[in-house]
Amino acid sequence: MPSFTLAVSRFCERWRIWVVLLELHGLPRSCSDVTRMGEPVSPSAHFDRLSVVWPRENFLKTKSESGGVMRQLTFIEPGKLEWWDVPAPKIVAGTDAIVRPLAVARCDLDYSTIIGSGLQGGPFAFGHETAGEVVEVGDQVTSVKVGDKVIVPFQISCGTCDNCRQGWTNACKSVTRGAVYGMKPICGEEFGGALSEFMHVPFADHMLVPLPDDIRPEVLAGGSDNIADAWRTVAPHMDKYEAPSVLVIGSGRGIGLYALQIALARGAKRVVYAEIGKGGEAMRMAKEIGAEVQQVPSAS
Ligand SMILES: [Zn+2]
Ligand SMILES: [Zn+2]
Repeated sequence: MPSFTLAVSRFCERWRIWVVLLELHGLPRSCSDVTRMGEPVSPSAHFDRLSVVWPRENFLKTKSESGGVMRQLTFIEPGKLEWWDVPAPKIVAGTDAIVRPLAVARCDLDYSTIIGSGLQGGPFAFGHETAGEVVEVGDQVTSVKVGDKVIVPFQISCGTCDNCRQGWTNACKSVTRGAVYGMKPICGEEFGGALSEFMHVPFADHMLVPLPDDIRPEVLAGGSDNIADAWRTVAPHMDKYEAPSVLVIGSGRGIGLYALQIALARGAKRVVYAEIGKGGEAMRMAKEIGAEVQQVPSAS
């Protein structure tokens, strides 16, 4: 346990992995927009500290610009990612949409994968938490139109099979079991990634979640996965108690910080963030978010 917690603790100071990634690949620091350190603090404002703004200036905005080819950030092996030119996705079925990612959040698993303790088996398209803009729809899509801003769930599902109708969209029977974006080793099939110029989204009416007009894409990019995960760690449990207190034992990674914000937004009486080890950026952020913070010395 001590070695595990120490290892996890090290993640705390490395949460800006996308910033590092984009620098490594020589791209402009438009992602510095993300931190917005000087802005007034509100619970939701902190979501975007875990996201990165897509460097739009250098990337394609319309599919017609692409000539059928787009750039895709591709995981090769731990510590090695490359921008590859790959075929741009196309509308295949009338229920499909094509989405241009505008902001991509760094999932906890992405970082583990990059340092070699997560997914294995590159090459595969990387990134799976995104909010973007619809750039093309099939002729049967009715709930979204070109230009709409949407969140793209990281798991692909149809919304109509037995499992989907019961809410088990992670086990949709209409697609390859475990079908996900940006994590081919999970399902064995490449569905593309969010750190690409375009994404193919089947079952668009079911899949795409409209982004409210007054919320920037970088704030809710993590809604694809980590924000939803954080919600389920606290929200349903808080509903069982009146003015509950919430303790988050943090690894300093995305889900823990999101959970703090959700607990505060839902009116928790006390929200405490405890971290084992020397603490780091996440502890500072937790305090800024409004949580009490407690540092627990590690055993070593
Ligand atoms: Zn994720
Ligand atoms: Zn389904």
